[in-house]
Amino acid sequence: KEDGNNSVTAEMLNQIIENNKKYRNEGEVANYIPELSKVNPEYVALSVVTDEGKIINAGDVNQKFTIQSISKIIALMIAVEEQGEQKVFSKVGYYGTDKPFNHYSNLETDKIPLNPMMNAGAILITSMIEGTGEEPFQKILERIKYITKNNTINYNKAVYNSERETGDRNKGIFYLLKNKGLIEESEESLNNYFKQCSIEVTAEDLAKIGFYFAHQCQRFDGDIRYQNTDMARLIQSQMLIAGMYDFSGEYARIVGLPSKSGVGGGIAVSVPGKMGVGVFSPALDEHGNSVVGYKMISDLSQILGLNLF
Ligand code: GLU
Repeated sequence: KEDGNNSVTAEMLNQIIENNKKYRNEGEVANYIPELSKVNPEYVALSVVTDEGKIINAGDVNQKFTIQSISKIIALMIAVEEQGEQKVFSKVGYYGTDKPFNHYSNLETDKIPLNPMMNAGAILITSMIEGTGEEPFQKILERIKYITKNNTINYNKAVYNSERETGDRNKGIFYLLKNKGLIEESEESLNNYFKQCSIEVTAEDLAKIGFYFAHQCQRFDGDIRYQNTDMARLIQSQMLIAGMYDFSGEYARIVGLPSKSGVGGGIAVSVPGKMGVGVFSPALDEHGNSVVGYKMISDLSQILGLNLF
């Protein structure tokens, strides 16, 4: 097993892209959010932030895409900072799942949502962030700007509107949560969830997010304003058990790294104590994970011996 970090090169990443980009034909770009179906499936990007905070990029790393579900780890962090883990997890579980990301999970029973990574848990988590109107969303956006040191980040209004207009399933989940007494806010507050999913990032931004949780919530440039070992453990454990939807168990077996994917085609990976990895390729498999993204991470993990187990 190699230490890995120092041996990452742009040529290595380019080679991984070359070897895997053909697999995009095995997946399909998300179309249940109409605006997402317009994304060019040819894009592919791979970015690494090494343990020293050095950024190594390959492919379409300047191409923006919507963060989607990867925003759920940022929202969870903020909710736990504000409310404490005990209170947050009295309303949502630590369970893994065999269900798709937008499943109603436990909501038809007297139980709480399975985990904060599925839509049901994530919608609940965002409603727990303090503030009125757009404030919870703004907190998520601000933290992503901080972690990435990228002030140009904003949300994509077309994707946001598209999600809001067609998000009947998420609205259904919202109302079930409200019916169970887990959410008190009005439907307006669900817009914060739609907005956080519509935040546009690059693969490099995702690598920086991966790095942040891999390094006890320390930023890639060494800033330790939010340093928090326990928080990093919590978030990475959630990424490991549920970050790749119902594929998380198999993924943990094969790749063995905390990772969070989004239906925009991005995946953020934390290699604890080492690097952050960000990938982007829009074509998704049946679980909602980027086909090429998953294959690139598997290759990188294998080449560098990153598997935690
Ligand atoms: N905005 C998407 C939804 O709520 C996020 C899903 C995802 O990336 O898993 O359906």
